[in-house]
Amino acid sequence: MALPKYRKSKSKTMMRRRQNDKRTLVNVSACPDCGAPRPAHRVCPSCGMYKGKTVVRKA
Ligand SMILES: [Zn+2]
Repeated sequence: MALPKYRKSKSKTMMRRRQNDKRTLVNVSACPDCGAPRPAHRVCPSCGMYKGKTVVRKA
C-alpha cells in the first residue's frame, strides 16, 4: 500500500469532500398545481399537493 508522504491541508481535504456534495443536490422543479419551486418527489410546500392529490392540507 502506498503511503502519502505529507499530510493534506484542511482545505485540500475539504475540496475532496466537496466533490461529492454536488451529486447529492435535490432536483427542484415547479409544482404543476401552483407553480411554486418544489424538490422533486416531495410534497409541495406551498399547496400540499402530490401526484394530483392534496396530501397536506394548507390553511
Ligand atoms: Zn404546489
